[in-house]
Amino acid sequence: MKEKIHPIYHKALVSCACGATFESGSVKKQLRVELCSKCHPFFTGKQKFAESGGRVDRFKKKYGLTEQ
Ligand SMILES: [Zn+2]
Repeated sequence: MKEKIHPIYHKALVSCACGATFESGSVKKQLRVELCSKCHPFFTGKQKFAESGGRVDRFKKKYGLTEQ
């Protein structure tokens, strides 16, 4: 068996822009993300990034969310 063909897959520390950190499997040791399950509008239901204009609306349409 050739065991060193694949990159090492280990736990990575993911740092979100909102300050949350969590572990996830990755070939990288550290990851930076802008959205995570704690601050993502899809999970929180809040429109956190309203200032970014149409991005939120496009996101909602993409996922079938509607204004309430
Ligand atoms: Zn976050």
